[in-house]
Amino acid sequence: MQKIETDIIVVGAGIAGLFTTALLQAQGYQVILLEQNTLGGVQTLHSQGILHSGLKYALDGNIGADAKILSSAPKIWQQCLQGTGILDLTAVKLLTAGQVLFSSVPLVGALNAMLASKAMRALAVPLNISECPQMLQNHAKISGRVYQLPEPVVDVASLLEAFAHIIGNNIIKIDKNSLEIIESLGQITQLKVKIKGMAVNLTANKYIFTVGQGYTNLKLSIQEHNKVQLRPLQMGLVQHPQLQPLYAHNIGLAKAPRLTITSHYTQKGELVWYVGGKVAEDGASQTKSQFIANLQKELGAAFNLDWTPANLNAISIDRAEYFQVNGTKPATFSIINQHNYIVAWPTKLVLAPSMAQQIVQMCQLLPKISSSLALSNLPKPAIAKPCWSNL
Ligand SMILES: Cc1cc2nc3c(=O)[nH]c(=O)nc-3n(C[C@H](O)[C@H](O)[C@H](O)COP(=O)(O)OP(=O)(O)OC[C@H]3O[C@@H](n4cnc5c(N)ncnc54)[C@H](O)[C@@H]3O)c2cc1C
Repeated sequence: MQKIETDIIVVGAGIAGLFTTALLQAQGYQVILLEQNTLGGVQTLHSQGILHSGLKYALDGNIGADAKILSSAPKIWQQCLQGTGILDLTAVKLLTAGQVLFSSVPLVGALNAMLASKAMRALAVPLNISECPQMLQNHAKISGRVYQLPEPVVDVASLLEAFAHIIGNNIIKIDKNSLEIIESLGQITQLKVKIKGMAVNLTANKYIFTVGQGYTNLKLSIQEHNKVQLRPLQMGLVQHPQLQPLYAHNIGLAKAPRLTITSHYTQKGELVWYVGGKVAEDGASQTKSQFIANLQKELGAAFNLDWTPANLNAISIDRAEYFQVNGTKPATFSIINQHNYIVAWPTKLVLAPSMAQQIVQMCQLLPKISSSLALSNLPKPAIAKPCWSNL
């Protein structure tokens, strides 16, 4: 049996585990990141990659806690993307510098007043029609103004590649469902895993679990199973000969945008719109055919196109977050820090850096091992492929 001793072990290589590991490594800790599937293949690669500014959570005219917290989050990312931040993410592909926001119905009351207010104009910049993306100019049903939002969109596959490069040999692929947590008096004393069928025992001063919905299977002795909540979505994948790249929120009178559209390419180089928003939330309780029919209706309400030649697909995926009594989205990231371990959920991709910074602070008194480990012969998880790549 192989034994590995290190400073910190992180379990789960979605954006939460990747950012946390890279930031701890940058502080000089010896960190090992364990993943049982592909890199980023559960929630992270299904995300739209939008570095939300929080504006979409203020669409009812109320700037709540979530909108306030999110308003500063994209800046940390932007610094990293420009190479001046806490990590160098200059290798990550930026798909657009900002989402646009438009409506296809006349907006009323608080929403209209908010978008017209001086404070909002600083964030949501009104565009002339000639400044709008071609897809909007050519095909959108637009009522009122179109706004440019400070919400960059990153290519998540290139983000995962960048982290695989930064973390290097310290990411290890473990066998599926092989993780066993050994505890004594509430402290974790070791993790037992299998790597290519071989038993390996790992010990560390701190254990960090960034496993998303995998929390329910962790079998921690003090675990309360209700700590994770799932909020399901049915996302749309749209192909049509007349589509042009678009990164946009189409808003109506509800708090959530009717459609949130990002643009991606298949392996063959064909354009695909990945569509979330209210249509995806409503889709969670619909059959695939009901969802596709509703998606086509919503697209028809927003764009002057004949949607009959469109190829519409659906993908069901759950968001996993810290449990909230009323089942709503937590306003920010969640961290449970007890004994010698941490369990954490970022709630959103955009909040992963802030969460990782807080975890680093929680680890700052831990000792650092000086010798480096020889891990290059251990298997690495493959980087996940986006759901649109094989359409
Ligand atoms: C459809 C969709 C769209 C989204 N769009 C956006 C967006 O545009 N902007 C935004 O900010 N946020 C967005 N989000 C939210 C964002 O994707 C998530 O908050 C974020 O990716 C969560 O990251 P995570 O690392 O916590 O979880 P995950 O990405 O789910 O990673 C958890 C990892 O842990 C691993 N794991 C689990 N159990 C074990 C175990 N026992 N041993 C080893 N490994 C284990 C899993 O295999 C997985 O790789 C979106 C989410 C969804 C579902």
